[in-house]
Amino acid sequence: METIEVVICGCGPTGAMLSAYLGQLGVQNIVLERELDITTDPRGIALDEDGIRLLQGVGIYDKIFTEIGQKMGYFNFITSSNDLHATPFLRFNNNTIEGGTGHPGFICHKQPVMEKCLRNEIASHESCELRCGAVVDGIEEDENWVYVSYVDQDGNQKKIRAKFLAAADGKTGFTRKKYLEAKGVSMEKDLKFRYEEAWVALNWKITPPTQETHPDFPLWRLGYKPEQVYDEFFPKDFRFICNPDRPSVCGRFGLCTDRLWRFEYVLKPGEDPVAMAEYENVKKVVFPYLTHPGKRYNLTRDVVFPEDCIEVIRSRPFTFSARSCNIWALGRVILCGDAAHVFPPFGGQGIASGFRDANSLAWRLAIACRPGFTQYEALLSAWYVERKQQLESSLAATIVNGNMCNERSKVKIFLRNWYLWLLQLIPSWKHWLELGPRQNGMTKYNYTPGLPFLPDLGGGAAFPQVLCKPLGAPEKMKPLFTDDVIFHPKKSTLFQLVVLLDSEGDLQRASHDLAGLERDSAGELRQEEVTYIISNQVKRDQLAHQSSGYQGSTFRVVCVSEYDPSCWDGLPEPIGYDGLRMRKEVSGKYVIVRPDRFIFAMCQGKEDLQRASQSLARLVSGEEL
Ligand SMILES: Cc1cc2nc3c(=O)[nH]c(=O)nc-3n(C[C@H](O)[C@H](O)[C@H](O)COP(=O)(O)OP(=O)(O)OC[C@H]3O[C@@H](n4cnc5c(N)ncnc54)[C@H](O)[C@@H]3O)c2cc1C
Repeated sequence: METIEVVICGCGPTGAMLSAYLGQLGVQNIVLERELDITTDPRGIALDEDGIRLLQGVGIYDKIFTEIGQKMGYFNFITSSNDLHATPFLRFNNNTIEGGTGHPGFICHKQPVMEKCLRNEIASHESCELRCGAVVDGIEEDENWVYVSYVDQDGNQKKIRAKFLAAADGKTGFTRKKYLEAKGVSMEKDLKFRYEEAWVALNWKITPPTQETHPDFPLWRLGYKPEQVYDEFFPKDFRFICNPDRPSVCGRFGLCTDRLWRFEYVLKPGEDPVAMAEYENVKKVVFPYLTHPGKRYNLTRDVVFPEDCIEVIRSRPFTFSARSCNIWALGRVILCGDAAHVFPPFGGQGIASGFRDANSLAWRLAIACRPGFTQYEALLSAWYVERKQQLESSLAATIVNGNMCNERSKVKIFLRNWYLWLLQLIPSWKHWLELGPRQNGMTKYNYTPGLPFLPDLGGGAAFPQVLCKPLGAPEKMKPLFTDDVIFHPKKSTLFQLVVLLDSEGDLQRASHDLAGLERDSAGELRQEEVTYIISNQVKRDQLAHQSSGYQGSTFRVVCVSEYDPSCWDGLPEPIGYDGLRMRKEVSGKYVIVRPDRFIFAMCQGKEDLQRASQSLARLVSGEEL
């Protein structure tokens, strides 16, 4: 029988991301995907900065702004029932790099293109294989293996034996419904956010009118160009239309040149979902926003965007709710992505949550697949305890947006808008409000026994990312992301040690403190793979001189004053970027970072480092689980 370390059921964004990360870690995996090709229907369009960081982690950063999408800009909260240019009563600024990941807040992307890029990554790893047209139809387990049956694209029944099955088969997936539900696994409604409403989601492709195609269009007389007409009717930035009569959201997605537009609106009680997705009804909801009063242009007649410039790509009703499974891993079978949890649309958290599942699962599976490792149940339970904590905060962000969007009481809306208007008169409060969910800082897990980090050494917090350059690099060199140097593909260990250098003595102390690192960590950390980061800008030159012996593994943090568009090609403009972010959030000199970019431990000196290294060794061997 065919035998493999991990079978992944489903190659949506979650399954593809998991396979790519497993491939990076050299874990043999086969992905079984029911469909022959990538689903061309763009569903998810918003991806948050964690999601961007995880795309970067699989090695496709260069595709993000060239093929996959663009910065999402502001989230504008408006109440108007017919004007997308109405002044927002609240804005979240997603252009800035203030979240700590080194990336802007959100991108709006084309899901099929993102999936294609992920599949290309899968194809680049020898340890990964994607089988399309393969429908999983049976699962069995014994003590040592899980057996996955599937029908291949020629109709042949096949079976694979694997150490683990990761089911990323979506919210109605086979694995939960046909296998795990009978064992007590269920998808439960979130008790804090009992949201469940039907929406219609539209994707339109816009071809702007031209003087040749629409000679009578009134804006030509005013000197408008087709591009300006497009910007007028389908403006930049994303809008939460908090219209109590019909909450909606809308905005561009994909690359600028794709000219794709998403509009989603809620259905009222009694409305037939299918009928409401038909063009005549869609028109009644959307066209008020695409009809501009003549006075906006000093014209006597209203200006309506030409209907024949709109191609409907999707128009379907959808029920959104907040639900998650009680158990995400049972025996050798694991649920991830939509198979384990679903979100309402307001926070753009569906795909990013699946990505977080995948990335944080990949390294655990790499450990669980090691010969002789037996504590996989404890390892995987700890995985979903952490994931559930993080899901709560994703949901909290979703709830804030959702409540804002769905408020139906006109009195409450009036009071809220005035209150927010007043707050925004004070610049620092305005800035704080514009941070949106980033006000809460980066994710930090609350420790419960078994979680893989040391709480007394500051473990469990997300590790910030900044830009850096190798020591001695030419001024004109394009900056690098710290994740890319810390987790360089040539490095061999799962966990990485980062040394933050602030003062002259630090370097000498480090060489003393790091002696015995490999022994203490039982080979889980290696001295030659340590990354040295000079994070204190003031001492930079002094340290640079001293640490010249560490060339190749020593990097200096790049600060915002070094911004030079000519050599930052492909990197977003560093608005709100803080080169000292890593130093501010990390209190130790030696940081053991997990592969999912969370801190295992922050150590001040040799003693802490020794203890953390030994604890890491016990964790990875299963002794400390
Ligand atoms: C209208 C709409 C708007 C959305 N907007 C957003 C948004 O803005 N941002 C966001 O992050 N998310 C959004 N989402 C949600 C997002 O699309 C999902 O969270 C995401 O696709 C989940 O990815 P996944 O890989 O976990 O599951 P899926 O994408 O559902 O993939 C599951 C895969 O498993 C395969 N499969 C299923 N059963 C089997 C089987 N038996 N054998 C083999 N293969 C199988 C399927 O073919 C599929 O390819 C939206 C969803 C919808 C519908």
